[in-house]
Amino acid sequence: MDIRPARTRLAPSPTGRFHLANARNALYSYLVARQTGGQFILRVEDTDQRRFVPGAEEVIVLSLEWLGLTPNESPFHGGQHGPYRQTERREIYQHYAKILIEKDSAYPCFCTPERLDQMRKEQEARKVDRVRYDGLCRRLDPENAARRVASGEKYVIRFKMPYEGTTTAHDHIRGNIVTENRYLDDYILMRSDGLPTYHLSAMVDDHEMKITHVLRSAEWLPTFPLHVQIIRAFGWDEPIWIHPSILLKPSGKGKMSKRDTAAAMKDGHSIFVDDLDGLGYTPEGVLNWIALMGWGVAEDDVMTLDEMIERFSIDNLTPSPAAINFQKLDHFNGTHIRLLTTEELARRVKPFLTNAGFDVDDDTLLKVTPLIRERLVTLDDSIPFAGFFFKGTVEPNPEDLIAKGLDARQSAEIARKAYDILASLPDMSHQTAEPPMREFVETSGLSANQVFGILRVAVTGQKVSPPLFESMEVIGKENVLERLQKARTLLESL
Ligand code: GLU
Repeated sequence: MDIRPARTRLAPSPTGRFHLANARNALYSYLVARQTGGQFILRVEDTDQRRFVPGAEEVIVLSLEWLGLTPNESPFHGGQHGPYRQTERREIYQHYAKILIEKDSAYPCFCTPERLDQMRKEQEARKVDRVRYDGLCRRLDPENAARRVASGEKYVIRFKMPYEGTTTAHDHIRGNIVTENRYLDDYILMRSDGLPTYHLSAMVDDHEMKITHVLRSAEWLPTFPLHVQIIRAFGWDEPIWIHPSILLKPSGKGKMSKRDTAAAMKDGHSIFVDDLDGLGYTPEGVLNWIALMGWGVAEDDVMTLDEMIERFSIDNLTPSPAAINFQKLDHFNGTHIRLLTTEELARRVKPFLTNAGFDVDDDTLLKVTPLIRERLVTLDDSIPFAGFFFKGTVEPNPEDLIAKGLDARQSAEIARKAYDILASLPDMSHQTAEPPMREFVETSGLSANQVFGILRVAVTGQKVSPPLFESMEVIGKENVLERLQKARTLLESL
């Protein structure tokens, strides 16, 4: 493996939302940079002004920050190879387009949209293998073409693709990809508005920014031969090209559609990184999940970002499409939640509890956190599991207070006995409270489920809670007794 300090980049277009595939490219790029002591760069590809979405750039940066994949160079972090926004680099592309024309690898094309449309229709009628530009302007005398440009005529710049032979492009995951040039086109490099297309701008920027590894979506495979042709026309060194596997919807059939995305959201999941935070996912869980989509390590390998830096290798990436599996996300999220320290977990669940309207005091939260840790899949699970700790009173459903196989009167009697036992204790620590309550169960001939069920609903207000005696310890003797008293009154009124 090449161990020179790598320079890698994420080159998103601010045209939509920041999704898992972007995040995965960012992660792999970041890992390659970090493990070689290199740099990870964020470059914003905003030359398609019609598709520009205001605010998209900020979401990208915030998502990267949240994941912990902070770029070394970006429009926000600066750097020596900027500007990092393509619309701020127009002159650079114009300069390089001119060089390609001088090298006879590109030419201005004056064909109008109407003519191109007619050409396409004619070719389709002839049932050609592949509709491509017919080369009308490619055959123009260069001096004549230059005069027309100088006179202000509208034009685009096209790449001069060889008509014959083949292009071999090497992808690190897929090996050599050989394409017959007759299936390729004289692609447009510069639009008539003077802004470049991706084909030119990305190649120029990767060169100018000294990118060593280009990790990008497999959607670019069809134009991959064009890209290597452009680089060879300039006479530049090629980067290592890496096109990770395609991500498929959970069923494995096709890519995520708008409808799939909406369905996932309803289910508390999302493919958009800026949603995952609010849904209670942790960056650690999300990173672990996306790392394994296309990296051939054991499916359930639990890794932190530092461990990934240690272990990642572009040699282990697989080309097979990966289905997005939200159950795995839940699994990794729960696993990473359990790896957090109590203080850190408390810090992370606090905003969820506060936003749910609970008045959270840090002392109680620190006591509660170890009690709920094992049960959390997402951070917002803390609301049903732990919210009641922060309420002055609870409002149990009276029906829930009636133990299975008993009636309200018998249940009230148990609440009364439990009250008496607990009231006689010096404190409510679980070591103090649990033995006499268990003894009561034994002598009463009732089951633990019956007795502790009443106790649980009475003091927590709900049928499911963290471990009962530990919870009672946090709630405190006075509150426990008050709630038992209230439960008994409620039962007696039924
Ligand atoms: N701007 C391109 C996109 O968002 C970037 C592709 C690349 O990483 O080269 O699809």
